[in-house]
Amino acid sequence: MRTIDSLDVKGRRVLVRADLNVPLDGDVITDDGRIRASVPTIATLADRGARVIVCAHLGRPKGKVAPQFSLAPVAARLGELLGRPVAFAEDVVGDSAHATVEGLADGEIALLENLRFEPGEESKDDEVRGAFADKLAALAELYVGDGFGAVHRKHASVYDVPKRLPHAAGGLIVAEVEVLKKLTENPARPYVVVLGGAKVSDKLGVIANLLGKVDRLVIGGGMAYTFLKAQGHEVGKSLLQEDQLDQVRGFIDEAAKRGVELVLPVDILAATTFAEDAPYEVVEATAIPADREGLDIGPKSRELFASKLADAATVFWNGPMGVFEFDAFAGGTRAVAEALIAAGAFTVVGGGDSAAAVRKLGLPEDGFSHISTGGGASLEYLEGKTLPGLAALED
Ligand code: ADP
Ligand code: MG
Repeated sequence: MRTIDSLDVKGRRVLVRADLNVPLDGDVITDDGRIRASVPTIATLADRGARVIVCAHLGRPKGKVAPQFSLAPVAARLGELLGRPVAFAEDVVGDSAHATVEGLADGEIALLENLRFEPGEESKDDEVRGAFADKLAALAELYVGDGFGAVHRKHASVYDVPKRLPHAAGGLIVAEVEVLKKLTENPARPYVVVLGGAKVSDKLGVIANLLGKVDRLVIGGGMAYTFLKAQGHEVGKSLLQEDQLDQVRGFIDEAAKRGVELVLPVDILAATTFAEDAPYEVVEATAIPADREGLDIGPKSRELFASKLADAATVFWNGPMGVFEFDAFAGGTRAVAEALIAAGAFTVVGGGDSAAAVRKLGLPEDGFSHISTGGGASLEYLEGKTLPGLAALED
C-alpha cells in the first residue's frame, strides 16, 4: 500500500475518506475517539499544503437527507481538535460542496455533509454507485483512504473513488493494518479472543474462522445468550438470535473437536426491564427467569473471564460484556478491560462501542497495545476476508 508520503499534495485537492462515525446524544458527541484518530492524517496533508476535502458518514440515514445525521457537529469538533477552521459543505456533491471546495486555499480543510445522504454511496448496483463515485471524484485530484472503520464496506467513497483517482493509504489505516497483521500472522500464544456486544448476527460469522486460530474464545455480552440457549438453557427476555441456534450448536461441537476452550458466563445480572435503573438480581447463567433479561455478566463470570485472560500472550477483544451505557451494567465490561490491562500481553480492542466503553470507564487508553477504530472491519480482517477498501488502495 502506498502511503501519503508518496503523494505530491501541495496545492492540490485531496479527498480524504475518514471514519467520523461517532456516537451522538442529540447533537452532542458522546465519544470523539474516531475524530481524534482522524486528525493526524488531515493535519499532515494540510501542513503539506493540500486543499483537504474530508468525507465521512454518520449513522444510517439510508440514502436520504436526515438532519439528525448531519455531520455539522462533527465539523465543529474536528475544527477544535485540529486547532484550525473546518469549512462545512451542506451537501455531499451539490452546489454547496462545489462552492466550499472552490473556496479552499492551500492548507485549508473542508468537510462534506454525510455521504449516506446520497443513495449512490451504499448502492449494491455498481452503476448507481459508480455514478455517485464519479461526482465525488470530480471534487478532487487525489484520494487518501483513512476511514478504517468503513474499509469492509463496498461503498462508493471507500471502493469506487480510489479506482478513479491517484490514491494512498492514510496513517490510520497503515497503523490499523500493521496491528491486525500481528494478530493473524503467527500470534504469540495463548491467543484469546473475547467477543460481546449487540450485533450478534454480524459477529457469529467470525467465530467459525476464529475457531481455527485461537486457543480460547470467551463469549459475553448479547451473543452469550444465543450460546446459553443453544445449550438448552432458558434466557428469558435476553437478546437472542433464534435463527442462529443451529449454527451456534455447530460452533460448540467444533470448538470441542478442535480443543478450543469456549468460556461462557456462569452468572448474569438479570433485570426486569431494559433501563438504567431497572431492578436486577444475580442469577446462575443456567437459570435466567423467563421474565428477566440479562444486561451484564455477573461477579463470578467477571472473575472467571479475568482468570482466562491472565495467562494470555495475545488478546483481541470486541464487544462490551453488558449494557455499559447504564452504570449498573458496566461492571462486566470494566472487569474485562481491567484484565486486559493487567495481562502482560499484546492486547487489541476493536469496535466503536468497546473503545468508547474504555474511555467512558476512565481507563487509560495506553493500557492497551492498540485500540482500533473499526469493529466490523477488524473482525472481517481477522476472518481472512478481502476488505474492499483495502483492496482498492492496494491496486
Ligand atoms: P462494538 O461497537 O464494540 O463492536 P457492538 O456495537 O456490537 O460493539 O455492541 C455494543 C452494544 O452492545 C452496546 O451498546 C451495549 O449496550 C450492547 N450490549 C452489550 N451487552 C448487551 C446485552 N446483554 N443486552 C443488550 N445489549 C447489550
Ligand atoms: Mg457498535
